[in-house]
Amino acid sequence: MNKLGCHVSMSAPDYLLGSLAMAQSQDANCFMIYTGSPQSIARQPIDKLKVKELHEALKQNHIPIEDVIVHAPYIINCANSEAKKRNFAKVFLAQEVDRVNKIGAKYLVLHPGSNPDKELGCKYIAEAINYVNKNNNHVVICLETMAGKGNEIGSKFEELKSIIKQVENKNLVGVCLDTCHISDSGYDIKDPSATLKVFDDIIGLKYLKVLHINDSLNEKGAHKDRHANIGEGKIGLKTLKEWVNYPMVSKICKILETPWTVDGPIYKKEIHMLLGK
Ligand code: FE
Ligand code: FE
Ligand code: ZN
Repeated sequence: MNKLGCHVSMSAPDYLLGSLAMAQSQDANCFMIYTGSPQSIARQPIDKLKVKELHEALKQNHIPIEDVIVHAPYIINCANSEAKKRNFAKVFLAQEVDRVNKIGAKYLVLHPGSNPDKELGCKYIAEAINYVNKNNNHVVICLETMAGKGNEIGSKFEELKSIIKQVENKNLVGVCLDTCHISDSGYDIKDPSATLKVFDDIIGLKYLKVLHINDSLNEKGAHKDRHANIGEGKIGLKTLKEWVNYPMVSKICKILETPWTVDGPIYKKEIHMLLGK
């Protein structure tokens, strides 16, 4: 079955069970959560999140726990040039990986970070991952491809490759490819096979673990990172449909992070559009 889902909330009182219910209400067969607010580092204790109940419910619904993706908060910058802030990010990332381990999930999506010196930034990010992996042998940190706003690292496949090269345990690092971000960063994504060939040549397809399927408000190369609803942006339904239905990525979780309307998310409609139903 083609894995296609969406970002869902995780909040009181049902936490992870509520996330699964929300995903199912949108006809998603995989989903992505933040363990708390993406813009904050405040986190609920893990024993409140209904982990056991989630596992039981997933089993009943034949959804593997690997199809529950976690996204780290945006505000941590493992590439920060200030040592104190960089260390803070590293320690927080280790705690986040510990939470993901306790949830039992496998993939943690991470915005690599920013630094005006890209090479140094890549080194710092790899250092943070190596530090985290001293106490981790399960969670795969998936570096997200970025739009290239400001000093963001990860808008070029070469930068992600540089980080991966410096990570000691290659089994615990991967990539999350975001269609909006790579279009914004300047890649031509009209033909998934051509884009994935470039990805394969530079990074290696075996590192591709998650896809984010978003339309973009802006033209290719705009470096803006403004997501649009499917078919309402500059990428368009035709291209996004080709990505979602590209056989090579059918077993990789594809997650929508498209804007919500005043009435809430429209993932269900978008999922059906993308699958051609
Ligand atoms: Fe992201
Ligand atoms: Fe994304
Ligand atoms: Zn984005």
